[in-house]
Amino acid sequence: MSLVRQLIRKNIEELVPYSSARDEYSGDDAVFLDANENPYNSGTNRYPDPSQSKVKVKISQLKNISFERIFLGNGSDEPIDLLMRAFCEPGKDNIISIKPTYGMYKVCANINDVEFREVLLNDKFQIDKEGIAKVADSNSKLLFICSPNNPTSNSMYRNDIIYLLETFTGLVVVDEAYIDFSGETSLLAQLDNYPNLVVLQTFSKAWAMAGVRLGMAFASREIIDVLNKIKYPYNINILTQRLVLERLDKVDEKNKWVENILKQREILRVELGKSGLVENILPSDSNFLMVRFREAKRVFNYLMDKKIIVRDRSKVALCEGYLRITIGLSDENESLLKALSEYKN
Ligand SMILES: *Cc1c(COP(=O)(O)O)cnc(C)c1O
Repeated sequence: MSLVRQLIRKNIEELVPYSSARDEYSGDDAVFLDANENPYNSGTNRYPDPSQSKVKVKISQLKNISFERIFLGNGSDEPIDLLMRAFCEPGKDNIISIKPTYGMYKVCANINDVEFREVLLNDKFQIDKEGIAKVADSNSKLLFICSPNNPTSNSMYRNDIIYLLETFTGLVVVDEAYIDFSGETSLLAQLDNYPNLVVLQTFSKAWAMAGVRLGMAFASREIIDVLNKIKYPYNINILTQRLVLERLDKVDEKNKWVENILKQREILRVELGKSGLVENILPSDSNFLMVRFREAKRVFNYLMDKKIIVRDRSKVALCEGYLRITIGLSDENESLLKALSEYKN
């Protein structure tokens, strides 16, 4: 029996998915009297392509991965949720993740009534492999590894992720939302080697398209087929598909943005390091810095008063005293530094 057949919930395996009108004919040049749409061309009167073929063809070329191994969702949040709904039996199965990490995994697990087991990172902010082995059991269906990790900003060791791919009996979901800002390479190239690997990426960060909500999941064809079977038929709207299609022709611009952000990250790191208010800055592989302040909460409120909004992570496990600061434009970063220089102890 295949891995997916072993792990999938019975109701999902047996599900007959909704078949939409546009599933049956997907050409452009027909007379469409099948979907009860309004025939007047408003620009958005037609339903979007439910399989997002044009967008996927471009992503497939860009990432050198076959069309059938790409799932597109309403943000990364959609594949996160669908993976849980497809593979985790509420009240019975469980999910494992590192801690601290991206908050949506836990929220999604709670919504789906799936037990969530968290394993604290070690003192190097790296994965505690033994800790994960200890909490894993035959009902552990998904393991979420965010790398580079939010909020700790560092990449998890590649060898540790590979070890987990080789030993964990469920699916290993590697969230690469920040991969463009990282010195590490993506795990996409490992998909052929690990049928239990799911890689998540997004248009929300490097691509500067958080507003259109487009997330990607890459995995074996069998896993992707499951996600496609249970998604809302028209989960990616026409405007998103159109804008992303255009944006995918501007890879150079995205790369330039990333390059600039990385330069700014280094400048900000050096300058913050000189501030007497700052105790520590974690090594970052992402588009933000985790900065420990002597008086984190007070600095946070002070910046807020100056209309500079950062993220208070000072109550998060292992992140006591840390504020998470996204890298902005140079003048925005300078405003931050100026405000901090005027802070009165
Ligand atoms: C920002 C972020 C995402 C992106 O989520 P979207 O729903 O695609 O906007 C995913 N994972 C992590 C860890 C993030 O920080």
